Formats: sequence, structure tokens, C-alpha cells
Amino acid sequence: MPALYKRFVSTIALSLLLNTSFLIAQPLHSRWDELTASDWPKALKESNETCILPIGILEKHGPHVPIGSDLIKVREWAARATKREYAVVFPDFFYGQINEARHQPGAFALPERVVWDLLEATCDEIGRNGFKKIVIINGHGGNPEMIRYFIQTRLEKQRNYAVYFFEAPKDSIYVNNLKVLHKSNQAGDQHAGERETSELLFLRPDLVKMDSAKNQSGENQRRLAIPNVYTAIHWYASFPNHYAGEGAAASQKLGEFLTEHTVSNLANALKAIKADTKTLQLQNEFFNRVLK
Ligand SMILES: [Zn+2]
Repeated sequence: MPALYKRFVSTIALSLLLNTSFLIAQPLHSRWDELTASDWPKALKESNETCILPIGILEKHGPHVPIGSDLIKVREWAARATKREYAVVFPDFFYGQINEARHQPGAFALPERVVWDLLEATCDEIGRNGFKKIVIINGHGGNPEMIRYFIQTRLEKQRNYAVYFFEAPKDSIYVNNLKVLHKSNQAGDQHAGERETSELLFLRPDLVKMDSAKNQSGENQRRLAIPNVYTAIHWYASFPNHYAGEGAAASQKLGEFLTEHTVSNLANALKAIKADTKTLQLQNEFFNRVLK
């Protein structure tokens, strides 16, 4: 029965074809949660034991950009940069210092010690999984002081990993492009203002409500003016709407430039960090000299 035989052969051939399509090598994913456990040795090798910890926050961003803007930014920076320079990316982490937004809906402000312990335990767990280099990237203006102090205190106890903090430079490329693309007052453009709204317009236009950008004021209200003094309430005193700048001036073009500027610098930093052997070596040398 040649016709039936032919059909049998073609069925076998088709199923082989379909099955081999699953065997075609998939790219090595960057996100920790998208890797399989069997990918781990390859991910450690390809990343040179480098893991990015992107830190965002959940807080009001004026009346027009999403609560998770800072998380969306760091997530996108990491995803885009690791396509150019491979590293593993820790999944969404939005626990940081955000007490100043507690009067606004959507703020997720954990107790100070929980935030600290969570950051420390997260780094320790990343280290326990084989990463010697942890690169923090941050999307939230209220976090850098905490992150710097966290990194300084990594010299308190010896660990078998080093923590790096990446921040995009405000170099001449940045300054010159801003001169051309930026429309509102640069000094007042801080939180959910022209720059940040532009970034979100570029990354997630579906989440930006441009027609609401003028519903509240993002102007500095200067309600507290003690020269050269830092207080906990300073941000609320200036920006009670949790909005600083003019979101209405935003453009996708500016957002595209800002994103590319951060991503290209992050990819360069990753390359340098992956090649770096000095940081951990000096860290170990230091601990060998600390009196026990
Ligand atoms: Zn933000």
C-alpha cells in the first residue's frame, strides 16, 4: 500500500521537523527568573559571574506617569544593556527609601530595617548563587544615599563578592544633547518632570497620561528655607504633590536620547566590571590586613 506508506513517512518527517524546532538553541536569557537551573553554569560563565540588581520604587509620579516608573526604567535599562553585554539580571526589586511619598497613594514604603535587611540578604543570596560581582542600578532619586552607605558598609564584614553602583554620567554628550532637546527649566526638572516623563513616553507610552500632566503643579513651593541645612521634610516642603518639573514638556525624542545614553554607558560599565579582577582582589587584601 504505497499511498498509506507515503503518508506514514511524511507524518514521521513532519513530527521530526516539529520536534527539532524545539532543539534549536535558544539564546541565553538575561533575567534570573527566565533562566532554567541547567542554564546556570553557562549564565555564570557568560556573565563572568556578574549580576545586575535593578532597584526601582513604587511611588506617585505626578498626576500623569505610573507609580512604577522607576522600576520600569531600571528594568528596561538592564534588558537593553545586557543584549549588548551579557549579564544576569535579578528580577523586579522595588524596595527602597521612599518615606517622603507616604502621604500619596501607591507608595510602598517598608520599615527602614526591613529595606536594609532585604537589600543585604538579596546581595548575599545573589552571591551564594555564584555571582562575584553585583551591579546595582537605580531609578529612584531617594535611593542613592542609602545605596552608597550600603556599599560603604560592605567593608564591615568579608564577603566573597563585590558590590558596584552604576550611575549614568552627566558628561558633555549628555549636556549638549539636553541643550537641544530639553525645553523646560533644567534645574526644576526632577521628579516626573520633562526628563522622566520623556523616558516613560519612550519606554511605555501606553502608561503615560499626558493630558493630566498639568492637573497639578510641579513647581518648587519653597515652604522651608533654612540655608545649608538638610531636613527629612525638605522634599515635602518643596514638592507636596510629589511632582517636580513640567511633565507636559516631555517628548519621545528626549526619552530616546536619555535611554540610549544610560543603556550605552551601562553596557560599557558592564564590560569593564566583567573584566575587573582588581576590586575583589583589593577587597580581600584589605580584609587580610584588618585586625581580628
Ligand atoms: Zn521616578
